[in-house]
Amino acid sequence: MIAIIGAGLTGLSTAYHLRDLPYSVFDSEKEVGGLCRSVSQNGFVFDYTGHLLHMKDPYTKNFIETILPNTFLEKSRKASVFLKDCCLPYPFQANLYGLPKKVVLECIFDLIKKKISSRNKDDLNFKEWVLETFGKGISEHFFIPYNEKLFRTGLENLTKNWASWSIPCPSLTEVIRGAIGIKNINMGYNASFYYPAKSGIDVLPKELEKRVKSIQLNKKLVSVDILNKCIKFNDGTKQNYNYLVHRLETLEEEHRLRASSLEDEVRSATQALLEQHRSLANAERLAAVGEMAAGVAHELRNPLAGISVALGNLRQDVSDADVVERLNILVTEIERVVRLLESYLAPARHAPEPVRTVNVGALVTDLLTLLRYQVPAHVTLESRVPEGFDCALPRDRIQQVMLNLVINSVQAIGESPGRIAVSAFRNGERMRLSVLDDGPGFPPETLSNGIRPFVT
Ligand SMILES: Cc1cc2nc3c(=O)[nH]c(=O)nc-3n(C[C@H](O)[C@H](O)[C@H](O)COP(=O)(O)OP(=O)(O)OC[C@H]3O[C@@H](n4cnc5c(N)ncnc54)[C@H](O)[C@@H]3O)c2cc1C
Repeated sequence: MIAIIGAGLTGLSTAYHLRDLPYSVFDSEKEVGGLCRSVSQNGFVFDYTGHLLHMKDPYTKNFIETILPNTFLEKSRKASVFLKDCCLPYPFQANLYGLPKKVVLECIFDLIKKKISSRNKDDLNFKEWVLETFGKGISEHFFIPYNEKLFRTGLENLTKNWASWSIPCPSLTEVIRGAIGIKNINMGYNASFYYPAKSGIDVLPKELEKRVKSIQLNKKLVSVDILNKCIKFNDGTKQNYNYLVHRLETLEEEHRLRASSLEDEVRSATQALLEQHRSLANAERLAAVGEMAAGVAHELRNPLAGISVALGNLRQDVSDADVVERLNILVTEIERVVRLLESYLAPARHAPEPVRTVNVGALVTDLLTLLRYQVPAHVTLESRVPEGFDCALPRDRIQQVMLNLVINSVQAIGESPGRIAVSAFRNGERMRLSVLDDGPGFPPETLSNGIRPFVT
């Protein structure tokens, strides 16, 4: 059995088209028709809302002519807007003639402003769309109050797609013609329509009702057990079904939303995967660089030890004190480089350079002595370390850090005269070392890109 919930036009038409298949239509109301109903009172017929037929689809037109021959007449719209004691032909925006001049001017000036500065209207709600399309005058005098009364809600709660398609948008010329009394009356999708000659619009559902075999009224659906294919009504009765036709449009919309949210989920998962891939690739690159550096460090240790021995021998053959001092610096530095290489290799062996008590003043003096021959003459080096300042440090690594910082400062100072001061001071239980130069500082692009290994 096919269960059809709702005996409005959709449900009735579905049942009619199912022909001999087993179905049943259920509706919570006591009569069929849903929105498409009429009431008679004192000899007059009122529709629940104005229901006029605009049949573009040839099948629908033929279908209605078949089930209700000679019932519908094609009629021309006769619609007016009553505002400020004037009865204006519909559409308001194209027939302003007769309104107080101040109102007409407001409507036209605001419309011109909008025509001049037109913007993209894709993401607007209905209220924004009205203001953007017609300007403040036409919107506030007519569109906003009229539509809020019709739809019984603020227009910001409606999407423009829901309502804007039905609103005629006359050109500026047409608006001005309408404002000086030349009527624009055949505008819009509903300038003519079909309507029953003698009755209300309920003739349509009533005719379908006659042609549909099984309709159960006063049956409000309260729950659907999809697993067991069973529906339950407010009177406690249940009905098993094979297929369920219930607000297909809602289901379709839910399906569409599910599909689009699925798309979003897939998109963000792909993004996350790409990010992971990128950081993995970076990690791999860094690992490769690290491996290469470890290899280079390992290869350098032996020749450096050889050079150190050779320099020691050379020192014994030299008598010039200045040359001996330079050779001493070279030997000391080579020894330091060897120790450094050891310490770079140490993380691989999980054994960092041991910490020992270091006289910081002597460490800085050694550093500046070493740099005396590397730093250009226009750069002055200064030590500002208090005497007798001892600290527990990994000596060689700290000296390397200080050396790098001073060389950075020299590069930053460039060609102009400058000063670099190396200071150390106590900060509670800690020591603070600083390398200060009077160069121009880091360039903005370096600061914005952050610190990058091997570059900054
Ligand atoms: C202001 C307005 C003006 C319109 N003007 C026109 C027009 O000029 N021309 C035109 O062609 N169309 C017009 N329409 C659109 C037209 O009214 C609808 O497209 C059509 O009536 C929808 O029919 P339907 O069967 O899908 O829904 P409905 O008519 O809403 O029928 C749904 C049925 O389901 C029943 N139901 C709901 N919940 C349950 C439940 N839990 N259990 C059992 N039954 C339930 C309801 O009682 C109702 O009978 C207008 C609509 C509005 C709102």
